[in-house]
Amino acid sequence: MIVVEGCAIATVDAAGTEHASGHLVIEGERIVALGAGPAPSGAAPAGLEGARRVDGRGCLATPGLVNCHHHLYQWITRGLAQQASLFEWLTELYPVWAGLDAELELAAARAGLAALLTSGCSTSTDHHYVFPAQAGDLLAAEVAAASGLGIRFHPCRGSMDLGHSRGGLPPDEIVEDRDTVLAATEAAIDRWHDPSPGAMLRIAVAPCSPFSVTAELMREAAALARRRGVRLHTHLAETLEEEAYCRERFDRTPVEYLDDLGWLGDDVWLAHCVHLDGAGVRRFGETGTAVAHCPSSNARLGAGVAPVADLLHAGVPVGLGVDGAASNESGQLGPELRQALLVARLRGGPAALTARQALALGTGGGARCLGRQDELGSLEPGKLADVALWRLDDLGHADVADPVAALVLGPPARLELLLVGGRVVVEGGELRAASEGEIAREARAASRRLLQLAEVTP
Ligand code: ZN
Repeated sequence: MIVVEGCAIATVDAAGTEHASGHLVIEGERIVALGAGPAPSGAAPAGLEGARRVDGRGCLATPGLVNCHHHLYQWITRGLAQQASLFEWLTELYPVWAGLDAELELAAARAGLAALLTSGCSTSTDHHYVFPAQAGDLLAAEVAAASGLGIRFHPCRGSMDLGHSRGGLPPDEIVEDRDTVLAATEAAIDRWHDPSPGAMLRIAVAPCSPFSVTAELMREAAALARRRGVRLHTHLAETLEEEAYCRERFDRTPVEYLDDLGWLGDDVWLAHCVHLDGAGVRRFGETGTAVAHCPSSNARLGAGVAPVADLLHAGVPVGLGVDGAASNESGQLGPELRQALLVARLRGGPAALTARQALALGTGGGARCLGRQDELGSLEPGKLADVALWRLDDLGHADVADPVAALVLGPPARLELLLVGGRVVVEGGELRAASEGEIAREARAASRRLLQLAEVTP
């Protein structure tokens, strides 16, 4: 049992409940009590005797952050194609990614997940769509990385089956055929998907994008996901070039194209959605389709600013994603709260997104993207104890008038504690399960090996 006392608490529940100084009691994997002031002795069924007590003074407790879009393998190809647009960037990087293998994937995933955990992220997805023929078991490598570090993980079995020779963007060497994709996706569900409450591992089905996947695979992937009761994910409407591609090839906007394929619904979340018209926003609202907003990646690639205020107004669930680290070298989720707020205001003015709305995107919005809103995304008795305790009594934060504003608008806050299902995974800013220095050394070596293989001189 863990008792945290003396901290400010932003529960991010439906009523927006906050406490200037409060307590949290955690028993097993769940929160059993929460409220203002110190924990009363009857806060847990068996009393508080023997509990680990955490002094939360000077800190703010929030739900652990939820990362809704990532490509972990890209950690070891950061810093390349620095001035490129999305299509130029992909064209430069596809041949590098063709050299990926399971050992490289493990090193990249450990580094990417370490950056997430130490920036307050307790649940992450990953979207892996590059499966070179001789690469080994890439999905197993990232599952091993996640379970080793203790993060709650929703990897997506991605795919590409539309190579350059058939009008797609990726080279033919790194696309798979449709039957291979569908069989491997179903095998991943059989092997790893855990539908039970409190699950640490769930699989989603995720063909990559309109310009790298055939319509047939999109349709069959949706049918597979719905037959097996798992969620669907893909990239959509990231750039104007993608919109032009969809208009030219299908005579549809990207949203209309997806709608035609039966891909809109409350079991779907879509990365980016930067370029939407009013009809597209409304259609997402009507169907309950969710959006993973990736503000830093969209800025890094000069893609544009997603209409997050409009999406929220239309009732669309919106979460945050760091996106792959090759288009967001930081790879940290905490700073995306600030970035989301800033870009929303650049687009829509000073009232476009509040600090509390930004925090809600990174917590409850993310939980909705992953279909986990009953268990994750807010601090409430009965929910899973995925809790971030941020230190806010330092130079960067101490005199900011409001703790939520300090967290969102201030510099990246140090994590005093991160719990995942009641287990301590980060303490005093450090990973519990591994050395950050060792992870960094392994990632550096992996990056060198991959770039040498591709004959890239960084
Ligand atoms: Zn992406």
